[in-house]
Amino acid sequence: MVAELRGALIGCGFFAVNQMHAWRDIAGAAIVAICDRDPERLKVVGDQFGIVRRYVDAAALFASESLDFVDIATTAPSHLPLVEMAAQNRVPAICQKPFAPSLADAKAMVKACSDAGVALMVHENFRWQSPIQAVRAVLDSGDIGTPFFGRISFRSAYDVFSGQPYLATGKRFIIEDLGIHSLDIARFLLGDVSTITTRTARINPKIAGEDVATMLMDHKSGATSVVDCSYATKLAIEPFPQTLVEIDGSDGTIRLEQNYRLSVTGRNGTAVSDVSPPLLPWASRPWHNIQESVVAIQKHWVDCLANGTEPATSGADNLRTLALVEAAYAGAASGEPVQLDALL
Ligand code: NAD
Repeated sequence: MVAELRGALIGCGFFAVNQMHAWRDIAGAAIVAICDRDPERLKVVGDQFGIVRRYVDAAALFASESLDFVDIATTAPSHLPLVEMAAQNRVPAICQKPFAPSLADAKAMVKACSDAGVALMVHENFRWQSPIQAVRAVLDSGDIGTPFFGRISFRSAYDVFSGQPYLATGKRFIIEDLGIHSLDIARFLLGDVSTITTRTARINPKIAGEDVATMLMDHKSGATSVVDCSYATKLAIEPFPQTLVEIDGSDGTIRLEQNYRLSVTGRNGTAVSDVSPPLLPWASRPWHNIQESVVAIQKHWVDCLANGTEPATSGADNLRTLALVEAAYAGAASGEPVQLDALL
């Protein structure tokens, strides 16, 4: 029998609870120690998941534990020092999104892990949602031919600020927090991007950053996409946290609509299916879509470590998603299109 990988979680906040549930569901890996600089969060998560080895300081964690990986679930400002610490200790690392507050920090983390010869995966989980994977599978089947247009849309009025109060206070909000996932999905479905043009707005007067963004992208494949996101959109039926997708191809179309209805029109007519994600025993609506994707990406990490393969959302891959975030903010400020290759 293959020995279980020994992992540690750093950052025991709001979202890390999902990651801890997911680790319990995954064969081949276990969380043996946890770390949070806030003793209260350390106690809450330690008690809930029965983890006795607890640290308030990441340096002490690395000094005392023998680890096969760390799962860093803190917010972005701490990612660079924590990932560098993992690299110095030759420990492969998962790092939550947004990978970093700047592309320079992200590049430094990729270099540190590459120099140390350890794997680095960004916890960019939205592309792992089963409805998004279902769209990818249709594209791979060739049923709609060559895609020439895409729309990745996330519009909601859900109160994300009660669970994540820091989202209301940052100068950057929706592109950095949510749009980053939509931009990654656009890359996943239509490939890398050459140019992005962005418009933003702040509708909610109680927050500091933008809560609406519309982005127009040229993909290197020749396809055009629109990525639009809003937390100021009051709808009859609140779709949070569903991403809706439209793709037009030379031979047909894909529509991922509200309530996980997937409609594919191809050479042989139209097929409609329900691609609802399963409700895992520990999950709760409406977050179950995201919660299922956490299990999927963490399983992928265990497979990659076991097989020595590069994760789909490796640090190097995620530089291209983070570059889109940087380019979107620059373009929103200047009003001009921004070329991606110049940033990478
Ligand atoms: P949070 O503030 O609730 O939790 C972060 C925790 O990290 C806190 O308990 C804090 O004390 C701890 N921490 C910070 N710096 C530390 C350090 N240097 N050492 C040890 N502990 C430290 O934040 P959250 O809402 O859980 O978000 C965490 C990250 O997860 C964010 O980057 C957020 O964007 C991301 N997130 C991802 C998804 C997703 O679907 N992938 C969803 C929600 C949040």
